[in-house]
Amino acid sequence: MNTEFTLFDRQLTLIRYPAKHQHKSLQAWDSADELLIEHLLTEQSVPVGQPWIIMNDDFGSLGTFFAEQQPVWVSDSTIARLSLSENLQANACNAISAIDCLTALPAAPALVLIKIPRTLALLEHQLIQLRSVVMPDTRIIAAAKIKSVTRGVLDLFEKYLGPTNTSLAKKKSRLIFCSPDPVRLSREMASPYPTVWQCKLPTGNSVSVSNHANVFSRQSLDIGARLLLEHMSVANHDHVVDLGCGNGVLGLNALTLAPQSSVTFVDESYMAIESARDNVAANFPHQLAQCQFVASNCLEALLNRSDRPTVTKVFCNPPFHQQNTITDHIAWQMFHDAYELLNKGGHLIVVANRHLDYYPKLKRLFGGVTTLANDRKFVIYSAAKR
Ligand code: SAM
Repeated sequence: MNTEFTLFDRQLTLIRYPAKHQHKSLQAWDSADELLIEHLLTEQSVPVGQPWIIMNDDFGSLGTFFAEQQPVWVSDSTIARLSLSENLQANACNAISAIDCLTALPAAPALVLIKIPRTLALLEHQLIQLRSVVMPDTRIIAAAKIKSVTRGVLDLFEKYLGPTNTSLAKKKSRLIFCSPDPVRLSREMASPYPTVWQCKLPTGNSVSVSNHANVFSRQSLDIGARLLLEHMSVANHDHVVDLGCGNGVLGLNALTLAPQSSVTFVDESYMAIESARDNVAANFPHQLAQCQFVASNCLEALLNRSDRPTVTKVFCNPPFHQQNTITDHIAWQMFHDAYELLNKGGHLIVVANRHLDYYPKLKRLFGGVTTLANDRKFVIYSAAKR
């Protein structure tokens, strides 16, 4: 990983968390970060002594660069927050206030910097949140790679906040400038989030599934998850982990199959964790006490606990990208962590696209691996810890 970042006579060492798993071609910042920094320093417009906000800073590079000016740093990602924390420490910077995307924003910010997120629904949620705190003189500047500055993105800024224009492209990136318009801000606008739908489980039970804006497969059941739901078996004595839980549909199914099982929902997205919690509370209020909700990079947070749970089954529909990068390092860390966390005799059950071919690596790690089911697109492996 390239870690040496130099701009305007500042030199920082910046990593993507977890540093040890990153490909050497990757780095913690992109040209949109550089463009934002150059713009703010050239215009000398970083606020001092007034609240200001940085949103969706993937690996904490903006937060670290501007740490002295104490922004409020907002992100839905545990990994982004862990990256920020390591980068602040490595560069001897003071801590800054880091909040998730469901926490209230500071009132009357002088400046808001937004990195355009991969999920437009998250951007829409954030623009709606900003409506209640920005002032007509709040400066809103967003940045992204050119291909992400679409008409749809600009329309969201115009719809919720006010007139919006863009800079010329530089280093394959572009800035977006938006001026809050008091007339537009005074219009009533309801948020479309969370999105709620009904899911019929293979047991015949129907559950309502609520999804905050940044949750995977927010509008319907993922087809890989659908196949896995049909082949899950859970007993009342099981302690289940729904790893990369999203809205928690796999854990909800576990509670339907075995009402006395314990379920730990784990995801790196705070919105996913809150959606899973809402879904257990709405569908299984009496089982809420049997459930835990843990924001974590893979299973790190559970493995680091002194009172590790005794886990018998881990169900996982793993991700295959981190932010905009296609990668399998997260799936591998999930499998390794599951192996470490599982009880002897416990099982990791994984659904994956057939072409990903996880079988050989699971076999090397666990020894015993069987194929539980497959269809044209997906396969389910069950790996037993011996
Ligand atoms: N289990 C849900 C389902 O089947 O619909 C979601 C599966 S989705 C393919 C993968 C999930 O893994 C996403 O919710 C994503 O936020 C989460 N995820 C991605 N990277 C992660 C990481 N490093 N640690 C924990 N969860 C992660």
